[in-house]
Parts: sequence; structure tokens; C-alpha cells
Amino acid sequence: MSCRRLDGTAAAAAVRAELAPQVAAFAVRQGRPPSLAIVLVGDDPASAVYVRGKERTGGETGLRVTVKRLPADTPLADVLRLVRGFNDDDECDGILVQSPLPAAMAADAEVQVIETIDPAKDVDGLHPCNVGLVVEGRPRFAPCTPSGVIELLDREQVPIAGRHAVVIGRSGIVGKPMSLLLLQRDATVSICHSKTADLAAITSQADILVSAVGRPGFVKPAMVKPGAAVVDVGTTPISDPELAGQLFGESSPRLVTLAAKGSIVVGDVHPSVADVAGALSPVPGGVGPLTIAMLLKNTLTAAEAREKRRRA
Ligand code: NAP
Repeated sequence: MSCRRLDGTAAAAAVRAELAPQVAAFAVRQGRPPSLAIVLVGDDPASAVYVRGKERTGGETGLRVTVKRLPADTPLADVLRLVRGFNDDDECDGILVQSPLPAAMAADAEVQVIETIDPAKDVDGLHPCNVGLVVEGRPRFAPCTPSGVIELLDREQVPIAGRHAVVIGRSGIVGKPMSLLLLQRDATVSICHSKTADLAAITSQADILVSAVGRPGFVKPAMVKPGAAVVDVGTTPISDPELAGQLFGESSPRLVTLAAKGSIVVGDVHPSVADVAGALSPVPGGVGPLTIAMLLKNTLTAAEAREKRRRA
């Protein structure tokens, strides 16, 4: 079976190209571009890469992206104070605090931070108000990764309504909102997790299979219905050449990249799934670029909504 590539890089470029004139028009009307504040606490290398990607891509699309980098031992109270400052800053439209926060912070630090962000500026879509709006089927800011998956399916003309969609993973940031967004688009949705019995029996019924687990090569061909559209949300850095060889084959160019860079990012879906699936999103170049594009889109939405409220 020939497997189509669900090209997230191209889809994200198309989203950004559509956003750019709207961003420019906002800047002309308001005398400043839509503005996103990112808070990065600590020195997690993956987070640093994600934040640089958001900063660069936001700037290229015409937004103002301000990154506040704080040391890992910053007290939670200081982070909350910073967030409140962005809440009160009239020239700040969107706020994102990069997850994960340092392990040494309070166990509920992420919850405290999210609940401190003004819901009207919560462009990551994680504040309970915004989660509630997604549950009600009238999202204001849907979380960026799941809304990126919907965008990818739409742009690649993968039908959703009436199809059986199976989501592996039930986190608040990916799995749960993914399931709700698919439901909102009239898919019949099954949600699987670590306690699901006979996972393969469920996943192999999926017309659309979304995997958000974080385990390299977890989804094998026997778990996939022939012809299904498979979206790989997983991103796990690996540095073990043996594991990379098992996943991609000893002659894969990905092993060359690993040798040069010391690590590569891999998805949940085993490459041999391409022998069974009808369409498959790659890692990298699948969901990742769309996550950033949807963040920029949410920031523009926030900026325009605040502009409208000021005029009212
Ligand atoms: P998470 O909070 O760790 O959630 C993982 C989910 O996988 C959990 O719901 C867990 O079930 C489930 N799971 C674990 N082992 C399983 C098993 N054997 N069978 C079935 N389900 C199993 O992770 P996350 O934040 O949702 O992220 C998931 C992946 O997506 C990670 O690799 C992350 O890096 C990636 N990600 C990528 C992007 C992007 O932009 N591309 C954005 C966000 C996340 P339980 O609930 O039962 O524990």
C-alpha cells in the first residue's frame, strides 16, 4: 500500500502565510504588532529548542515575541508575579509559560501558573475557562498541538466526520483536547491510555489514529487498520544508535544525523507502519511545525479580540 505523507511543514507554512497579512493589518491599525510573552524557567534543553522555534517563527510572521528566561531556582512566587505583570500589560496579547517547570518547584506549580494567566491571554488554551469552552464545543483558544492536528487533517483533506478516530493518550495538553476536537468534528472517538485492555484491538479499528504517548516506535503495523490516516504526535529525543538502528534500519540517513548531532527526535509510530497506513505524519516535520503555527494564530485571535473589546 502506498502511504501518503501528511506534510506538517507545508501546512504550517500555509497557515503562517495566511496569518501574515492579518498580522500586518493589525500592526497598522494598532501601531504595534500582536504580542506574545513567553516565560521559560530553567535550562531544559528540549524546552529551550521549542522556545527558540516559537520566537523565530513568531518574528518571521510579524509578531512581537518577548522571551523572559529565568534560572531554574526562581521562586514560584516570582514566576506568578511576572505572569500578573503580563496580564496587566496592555501591549501584551498572549502569554505562554513553557512546560515543564523545574521539578524542584511546588507539585502544583503548573496549575498555579496556568490559573494565574488571564484567560483572555491564555494562547496555549490550558486555563480551565478555555478548557471548558473546548468541552462545550465553542473553543476560544484550543490547545495548539491538537488544533494543529485538526488543521493538518483538514489541509491534507482527510475526512473526519463519521470516521472512527482513536487517540492514544489522555493528557490535558494533547490527548483529552484532541479527543474533544475530533468529537466536535463529528468523529466517533475512542480514547486509549496505559490501562486500556487490548489496545491493538481498538487502534486497529481506527480510520484516524492519533498517537500521543512519548514512546519511540510504540505504534506497530499490527495496531493499524490498512489505509488509516496516522498522526504521530510523539516527540522523544534519543541518543542510542542501537535503538535508532532498530527503528530506522542500519543504513538510514537518520543514523548519520544522530552521529553528527548526538541525538535525534523520534515519534511514537514505528516507520514500518508506512507499509500499512494510507497516510502518515512524519517526525520531525509533522505536528511540531503546526503546533507553533496554531500558537501564532491563537495570539492573533487574542490580539484582535482585545482590540474589539477596546472599541466596544
Ligand atoms: P504525557 O502527559 O506523558 O501522556 C502520555 C499518555 O500516554 C498518557 O495518557 C498515558 O496514559 C499514555 N500511555 C503511556 N503508556 C501507554 C501505553 N503503554 N499504552 C497506552 N497509552 C499509554 O505526554 P503528553 O504531554 O501528552 O505528550 C505525549 C507526546 O507528545 C510526548 O512525546 C510529547 O513530547 C509529545 N508532544 C509533542 C508536541 C508537538 O508539538 N509535536 C506537543 C506536545 C507533546 P496514562 O494517562 O494512563 O498514564
